[in-house]
Amino acid sequence: MITALFGGTFDPVHLGHTNAVRSLLESEISPHRVIIMPAFVNPFKAGINTESRADCGQRLEMCRLAFEKLPRCQVSDYEIKKGSISYTSDTLRHLKTTYPDDDLVLTVGSDSLATLPTWNRADYIIKTARIAAVSRSEEESHKLKDYSEAVKAMGGRVTIIKALPFDISSTEIREKIVNNQDISCYVDENVVQYIVSESIYKSGDK
Ligand code: ATP
Ligand code: MG
Repeated sequence: MITALFGGTFDPVHLGHTNAVRSLLESEISPHRVIIMPAFVNPFKAGINTESRADCGQRLEMCRLAFEKLPRCQVSDYEIKKGSISYTSDTLRHLKTTYPDDDLVLTVGSDSLATLPTWNRADYIIKTARIAAVSRSEEESHKLKDYSEAVKAMGGRVTIIKALPFDISSTEIREKIVNNQDISCYVDENVVQYIVSESIYKSGDK
């Protein structure tokens, strides 16, 4: 069986994230399960105004709302429950213990692929998981090959996932909310409703 990990801050989760996972599900990798892993973020330590961000429980809930429509996806509270910074290498080790017979796939957007060689225990990550990379934008799609060469040079296995890039970021969405701009074409409708009902991201301090 193939288990894919897709981690991030998801503050908030957006259609770029679900688009990436949908493309992964439809790709040659065709994972049996995709584990969506919101990272633990300590807003006090990160030095951000907590009113401008969602808390851990809210990010988990938004991920559940966004990914419940996709097959074979499950949202995990593993990193959030740990309550400290989790390195992807630690989370992969945890998945290896949970699913010892599975092949692991780490799913990343192009910006994450570019920095992956510098991540904590990158050698372990690259040895443990195939990397599935999705471009975030048309412009980045031309760079994916170069980024993947760097990972391959470290002995990694990389699959570039064919996807129509959906060029949006959580940062841009938070800015749009502060400026009272419509976000409905970038965020799942249930997530939009949740953001409104919980009054998240209203403060301009990013
Ligand atoms: P922020 O602006 O707060 O950094 P983000 O939009 O980059 O938010 P993250 O939670 O940082 O979202 O990203 C989680 C993962 O999703 C990363 O691997 C990132 O590369 C990937 N990703 C984010 N946005 C997209 C997108 N539009 N298309 C494809 N992958 C994406
Ligand atoms: Mg990001």
